[in-house]
Amino acid sequence: MNILILGSGGREHALAWAVKQNPKCDRLIVAPGNAGIGQIADLAQIDPCDAAAVLACVAENAIDFVIIGPEAPLAAGVADALRAAGVLTFGPSAAAAQLEASKAFTKEVCDACGAPTAAWARFSALDPALDYVRACGAPIVVKADGLAAGKGVIVAMTLDEAEAGLREIFGGAFGAAGAEVVIEEFMAGEEASFFVLCDGKDVLPVGTAQDHKRVGEGDTGPNTGGMGAYSPAPVLSAALQEQVLDQIIRPTVAEMAARGTPFQGVLYAGLMIDQDRARLVEYNVRFGDPECQVLMLRLGAQALDLLQACAEGRLAGLSATWAEDHALTVVMAAKGYPGAYQKGSEINGLDALAESSAQMVFHAGTALKEGRIIATGGRVLNVTARGASLQEAQERAYQMVDAIDWPEGFCRRDIGWRAL
Ligand code: ATP
Repeated sequence: MNILILGSGGREHALAWAVKQNPKCDRLIVAPGNAGIGQIADLAQIDPCDAAAVLACVAENAIDFVIIGPEAPLAAGVADALRAAGVLTFGPSAAAAQLEASKAFTKEVCDACGAPTAAWARFSALDPALDYVRACGAPIVVKADGLAAGKGVIVAMTLDEAEAGLREIFGGAFGAAGAEVVIEEFMAGEEASFFVLCDGKDVLPVGTAQDHKRVGEGDTGPNTGGMGAYSPAPVLSAALQEQVLDQIIRPTVAEMAARGTPFQGVLYAGLMIDQDRARLVEYNVRFGDPECQVLMLRLGAQALDLLQACAEGRLAGLSATWAEDHALTVVMAAKGYPGAYQKGSEINGLDALAESSAQMVFHAGTALKEGRIIATGGRVLNVTARGASLQEAQERAYQMVDAIDWPEGFCRRDIGWRAL
């Protein structure tokens, strides 16, 4: 089977690594990929959001299966274009990707199917929105409706913060993504992520994880794309997972099918857990990054069979096989991230690190320059390890971190602290 993966981050390196373990995989191309991915796959320098270029790559390389990593090509309709051309594709249609691209859309779906989530209201003008937050009081959550790379959400602990957030969004800080605002009840609790493959009708859980969004130890400092993650998430007990499947995931999948826009791909439910009760914070329509890295290390080669079954509508009766293990990933970022940082510093010591199904360094933002590995992004490496316990996985991951020679990089030293 010839496989094309779209994307260039640590998530796509982890997907490529898992797919490559499967003997079914003949040729693997990743577009555009990065230096680490280039060590295990061919790279194609095309824009993953350019459907015509992706279709041309598929035809040229006799691709049998396309796996779409990030949300941008999904929202741009690349999965629709591929399926219209008869190409087996993992990832939702643009219409189903609305579950991530519009917060108001997701809230409407939750209301229609009875999925527990925060009480909410939507506004398209400042004054009624101000009246509403004043009537509700703080804490309260103000969100730009559309995609704003994690920056369009203000968890306001005071009315002043909520009002300032509304003025910022309606003032145009997020462009069209902020033309509408969703205002939500504040939910207290512990956050966790649940990943479920959906083939339009049936669902298959593929793991739980927790991430660390803040740049600083003890979950302090500015928000980032994620500084580390681990799987499983102890807070998502088997009983809670069943509750989430019954009350949130299956009703959503049925509602999407009833609307004529069935969801096919991975549904990533961001949950707030409080006193044995889970409520939906948000949906994403692709694997999390860096959560994908810990899920793929735990799933290994079977990931390809599961993604293929999902794309072919064959999830009914399938299950994933889990070792009783844990995985943890530490993000190494360029000093200064998430603020301004230097690109182009050299990373050494990677070749000497043993890589196996127990420990992998996934590349997130690297390039190969004259035979040397160069940092090209903010989040650069995802140092990922498995262990019989979370503690063992953590120790292994930090041993690898310490063997990497990259003075211009940094990481948090406390990934996993909440569960440990
Ligand atoms: P963007 O669309 O800007 O990329 P996002 O998709 O990451 O943002 P959300 O996941 O909806 O936005 O919110 C970001 C974070 O804000 C959540 O992970 C959670 O910590 C917090 N949050 C969101 N909604 C609530 C809520 N109702 N109560 C408490 N915290 C919330």
